[in-house]
Amino acid sequence: MDTRNEKQKILIVDDSEMNRSILADMLGEEYEIIEAVDGTEAVARLNIDSTDISLMLLDIVMPNMDGFEVLEVMNKRDWIQDIPVIMISAENSYSYVERAYELGVTDFINRPFDGMVVHRRVINTIMLYAKQKKLVELVADQIYEKEKSNSLMISILSHIVEFRNGESGLHVLHINMLTEILLRRLMKKTDKYNLKRSDVFLISTASALHDVGKIAIPGEILNKPGKLTKEEFEIMKTHTLAGAEMLDQIPYYREEALTKMAYQICRWHHERYDGRGYPDGLKGEEIPISAQIVALADVYDALTSVRVYKPAFTHEKALEMIVNGECGTFNPLLLECLAEESETIRDQLRQNSIKQESERNTRNIAESLLEYDEISASERTLKLLEHERTKYQFFASLSQDIQFEYTSEPPMFTLSEIGARMLGLDEIIINPQEDKRVSMISNEKMVEEIKALIYESTPEKPIVQCDGEVLINGEWCWSRVICRSMWSSEETPVMTGCIGKIIDMHKEHAKLEELQRKASHDGLTGLLNHSHAEMIVREKLLEEKDRDYIIVIFDIDYFKNANDRCGHMFGDKVLKHIAERLLSSTRKYDITARVGGDEFMIFMEDRKDIEGIIDRIFHALSGTYEGFDITISMGIARSKEVGHAYEVLFNCADWALYNAKKNGRAQYFFYDDSMKEVLSAISSIDGEE
Ligand code: GH3
Ligand code: MG
Repeated sequence: MDTRNEKQKILIVDDSEMNRSILADMLGEEYEIIEAVDGTEAVARLNIDSTDISLMLLDIVMPNMDGFEVLEVMNKRDWIQDIPVIMISAENSYSYVERAYELGVTDFINRPFDGMVVHRRVINTIMLYAKQKKLVELVADQIYEKEKSNSLMISILSHIVEFRNGESGLHVLHINMLTEILLRRLMKKTDKYNLKRSDVFLISTASALHDVGKIAIPGEILNKPGKLTKEEFEIMKTHTLAGAEMLDQIPYYREEALTKMAYQICRWHHERYDGRGYPDGLKGEEIPISAQIVALADVYDALTSVRVYKPAFTHEKALEMIVNGECGTFNPLLLECLAEESETIRDQLRQNSIKQESERNTRNIAESLLEYDEISASERTLKLLEHERTKYQFFASLSQDIQFEYTSEPPMFTLSEIGARMLGLDEIIINPQEDKRVSMISNEKMVEEIKALIYESTPEKPIVQCDGEVLINGEWCWSRVICRSMWSSEETPVMTGCIGKIIDMHKEHAKLEELQRKASHDGLTGLLNHSHAEMIVREKLLEEKDRDYIIVIFDIDYFKNANDRCGHMFGDKVLKHIAERLLSSTRKYDITARVGGDEFMIFMEDRKDIEGIIDRIFHALSGTYEGFDITISMGIARSKEVGHAYEVLFNCADWALYNAKKNGRAQYFFYDDSMKEVLSAISSIDGEE
C-alpha cells in the first residue's frame, strides 16, 4: 500500500528554490509536499483540486503573481474558508501583516524563522482546521438526519393514525419520552451497551413505531374490553412480527438506521428478560437493549394509562408493580434506572406536550454538539492566547526591560525583543541549557542559585529573586533577576517553567535618581521647583531659628514682550538665561528656585552687607540678552523684620515685589511696615479699576 496517499498535503508557494527546499525538508516526513514557484502555479494547482490541500505556506514577493494576489483569488473562489494559509515573509511591516490578515491568512511568520516554531504552527493550524471541518460536517449531518427521520416518521405514522384510536398519539409520545429518560440514565450508569448520544435520538424516535404492527390486528380484539381469550391473545401477539415485517418491506427507507432500529423494537419489545416473552423467546442480553427499554416504557405507560380493560394506576403503584415483578421480568439495571428516574418520569409525563417534544429534539442536537465543545473551547483559547501574546509583546516593547519566559516542555527560552538585543541573544532559543551563548551571559553560581530558588518556589509563593552579574550590552552589570514560576492547571500542578525579568540595578538606581530629580526640579531651567524649594526653606527656618534669613522674589518686567515679539522658544531661552545668571550671582548655599512663569525666588542668610549683595544680584540679572532688554522687579523680606514664619516671609517679599512693579518696575524694594498702607492703598485702587 502506498502510505504517501494518506499523508495530508501542504502546498508551498515560494519563488526561491532554497526557501521551498528548507520548508519541504522540515515538513516532508509528516506531510506530502507540493511546490509552486509562484502565485500562478499555486492557483493552477488549486484549480485542479482545492479540496485535498490541508495547508498552504505562502510567500509574499514573487514574480507573475504575488502572495496577496493569490489570497485575493482564494477569497473570490471561496477557497480561503477551507484552506488555512500561513504567510511566511521577510516583509514584516505593519501594513503587510495587516493586509495578510485582512485577506484571511491564519498566521504570519517572519523570516528568518525558527524551524521548530514553523513546524509547531503548521501542526496546530492543520489540527484546528480539521476539527472545524469535522464540526461543520457534524452539524450538517445532524440537521440532514433529523429532516430525513422526520419525513420518514410522518410517512409511516400517517398510515397508523388511520387505523389506531385517539389514545395512541399520547402513548407514542410517552414511550418516546420514557425511552429517552431511561436511556440517558443507563448511559450514565454503564458503557456496557456502547451507546452513543446519537443513539438516544435514534432509539427514542424509533420507539414511536413499537406498536405499528397493531394495524394488522382486528379492531374487536384491539379494543376488546376485559381479558382476551387464549386465541385472541395469540392473534394480538402477532403485532410484533407484523410490525417488523412492515418495516422490512418499506420500499424507500429500508436501509436507514432508524428503520433498522424500529425493526428491532417492533419485533422484540414483548420479549422478556427471563426468556418468557414473545415472539422469539429471546433471553437476557439476547434482546437488543433498545427493545428492552421500550418494553419497560411500554409496560409503565400501559399501567398508568386508562385502557378498555383497566383503569389508570398511579405512578407509584405502577412502579411498585413493575419492581415486584407483577408485569414480567426486566433487566435489573433498567429497573434501577426506572427507580432512579422515578421523579423525573412522574413530573414530565404529567406535563407532556408536543412543544416539549420539539424542545427535546433541539436539546439532542445541542448535546451532540456539546460533545465537541472542546473544539470551540480550543478555538476560543487560541484567540485569547493570541490576544494575551499581543498585549504582552506590546507592554514588553514599551517597558524596555529584559523580559523572558522559560518553558520546560519544550525546553525553550523566549526573550522580549529589547531583552534579546541587550543580552546579545536570539528572541527564541531552543534547548537553552545546551546553548553556549546563554551560559555566557551569567556566571554558573548565579544560574545555579536561580534554578534552586525556582525549584523551591511553590504555587503559594511563586515569585523569587536573585542578584548577581549579568552581561548586558557587553558589560558586566550588577543585576536583579525576578522570576515567577508557572504551573500547569491540573489537579496536581506540575511546574511548566517561569517568566521574569532582568533588571540592571545601576541603571535602575540612576532611573530612580532621575525621577526624584524630575519631581523636585523645574524642567526648563533646572532650578528647584516651587514646592520643593518651599519644603527645604521651611525646614531651614524651623531648624535654625537663631539665624536670620531673607526671601527675595523677582519677576521679569514685560516678559510677555519676549514671547510676543520673538516667540515662545525665545521666551524659554530668556528664562534659562536668567536662571544661569541667578546661579552665577548667588552662592551654592543659597537656595534658588523658579516659582512659576517668569517669577523666581532666592532664599539666603541675612548678612551684614545684604543691601550691597541684593544690589549686585539685581544688576547681574538685568541687561540685554540677544537684543531683548531685561529688567526685573524685586521684593525682599527679612526674617529679622517679619519673623521666621515661611508664609509671612514669602508674602511680604511678594508684597514688596508688587510694590516695585506698581512703582514703575526695574527696581527692588525691601519690605517694611510702611508698605502695608501703600499696598492697601494700591489694592483699593486696583479694586476700583
Ligand atoms: P510684568 O512686568 O507685569 O511682569 O509683565 P509680564 O509681561 O512679564 O507679565 P507676567 O509676568 O504676568 O507674565 C509672564 C508671562 O510669562 C506669561 C506667560 O505667557 C509667560 N510664561 C510663563 N511661563 C513661561 C515659560 O515657561 N516659557 C515662556 N516662553 N513663557 C512663559
Ligand atoms: Mg513678568
